[in-house]
Amino acid sequence: MPTVCLDLGDPQRHLLAVTLELAVPRPQLRLRLPAWTPGSYLIRDYVRHLEGLEVVCGDQPCPIRRLGPASWQLDLDGRVGAPLLIRYRVMATELSVRTCHLDGDHGFFALAAVVLEVEGERWSPHRLEIRHPSDWQAFVPLPPSGEGAWLARDFDQLIDTPLELGPHRSASFSVAGVPHRWVTWEGAAASTDWLKRHRPTLLGDVQATAEACCRLMGAPAPASDAYLFILHLLDEGYGGLEHDNSCVLVYGRASLQTADGYRKFLQLVAHEYLHQWNVRRLRPAELTPINYHQAVVVPSLWFAEGITSYLDQFLPLTAGLSSELELLDDLGKDLSRYLLTPGRQVQSLRDSSQEAWVKLYRADAYAGDSQVSYYLKGAVIALVLDLHLRRQGSALSVVIRQLWQQFGRWGRGYQESDLLAAFAAEAADLETLLPHWLQDLGDPDLAGYLADVGLKLVSQPSQSAWLGLTVKAEPSGLLVQRVHRHGPAEQAGLAVGDELLALDGERLRQADSLKGVWSPGQSRELLFCRRGRVRCSSLTAAAPVVGAWSLEQDPGAGTPALERRRQWLSLLPI
Ligand SMILES: [Zn+2]
Repeated sequence: MPTVCLDLGDPQRHLLAVTLELAVPRPQLRLRLPAWTPGSYLIRDYVRHLEGLEVVCGDQPCPIRRLGPASWQLDLDGRVGAPLLIRYRVMATELSVRTCHLDGDHGFFALAAVVLEVEGERWSPHRLEIRHPSDWQAFVPLPPSGEGAWLARDFDQLIDTPLELGPHRSASFSVAGVPHRWVTWEGAAASTDWLKRHRPTLLGDVQATAEACCRLMGAPAPASDAYLFILHLLDEGYGGLEHDNSCVLVYGRASLQTADGYRKFLQLVAHEYLHQWNVRRLRPAELTPINYHQAVVVPSLWFAEGITSYLDQFLPLTAGLSSELELLDDLGKDLSRYLLTPGRQVQSLRDSSQEAWVKLYRADAYAGDSQVSYYLKGAVIALVLDLHLRRQGSALSVVIRQLWQQFGRWGRGYQESDLLAAFAAEAADLETLLPHWLQDLGDPDLAGYLADVGLKLVSQPSQSAWLGLTVKAEPSGLLVQRVHRHGPAEQAGLAVGDELLALDGERLRQADSLKGVWSPGQSRELLFCRRGRVRCSSLTAAAPVVGAWSLEQDPGAGTPALERRRQWLSLLPI
């Protein structure tokens, strides 16, 4: 059994010392470091943080032959069974939920970035040992195996283990008898008074949200035997990463203290917690097993993320922690964001899923015109699916529960065709409709589905003429951040990064000063600078466009629609 020892040494040096010990299993042995971590679909080349690799066999240094940027071969002829020691260091200076960070305040490690896979040992148990400063504590979502040690079932479970270490406070609670731990790292700041005062309420709300997730899945208990929440509470930030038995959350301190921010936080908790079923255990076949060394095209990420993003908004409500009006407001904002994304006319939902590695995770200032997020459109299609299924007396929750029973609980990966079959089993016409919604650029009849539950989308036109650009005031000047495809700014020859200098001879300094009073069709002389050269162009305003959409209750909705709405908001079938 390989033993992995992590020594934090002096955390101020940001260097994690790693040793891997095992008996030589075969004469030729390959070592590889993962290039990405599941749940975050980007090749990160973690090897760029690895240094000082050396191997000792018995008491002899062993030559290492590099096969690729993140793979090596050891030639160990005649040494099978001898003790093998693999040593290296990992620089831990990147703070995110999928990278490694070590300093005097804490340590956080995504083990995909840390542990070498030893050829032939992927499915062997791995023992994990950690040495850390004496006043720190290690939070490890693995079964303990003696003092300062833990046991992973195999390399995959080890890689799926996020580690948080520090002088942190933690708390425990249970969900349906399953032990849960919560640990917060509060950035570099001292514990906030707000968090001290609200800690019991927050933990109670997290517990209620977790219980709501179990009810949604029709499960008497969580899918994991024990669960760890790791929260990085920073000045700002938002995100999470799911694991089988844990999740890592990052959230802004100020945002958590507002009513909207707190509700969004519980939605994030629900999202990552729900992933212990959807995507971790109820997993696409393309990720069964996971290839850690190259990008893997997954056509059904819309299901893994879109369905989860839709459901997470309901869970604080079904847990009794938010109101129906707040949910409608949240859904309306998502629908508005979707309808105002021009890229939905360019990229289909399936393509968005398949291109995650090179589009969503590598979005630039032009992305909004050429792509649509599978989280966002996936959630819109989830809403449509839920309302469509309700016309047949079923619901999205029924489909996800059935997929769990058929695939997830047995560890069987699903193909996209399995998803289509599961939806068609509840509503036969989805066999035809759903492939269109995945592949086509057009939208389902959103207005018709929303009318089923007495709701309507209302457009809110902008107050001013449309210029087709977004600018930001920097100390250096007014910089163009976005230029809409086919818009007035594009026609005027503007590009992202241009510095806007003057409009009709007047110096531009504030973002608002660009708007001024324009009437549609009016042209004004714009002076701007690109790559150090000052240029002049004519910018012609267009008619105001829709500025936002809102989801509103239809006052004319009848009793049946209101009853359907009540059922829909509970997530339960009619
Ligand atoms: Zn997610």
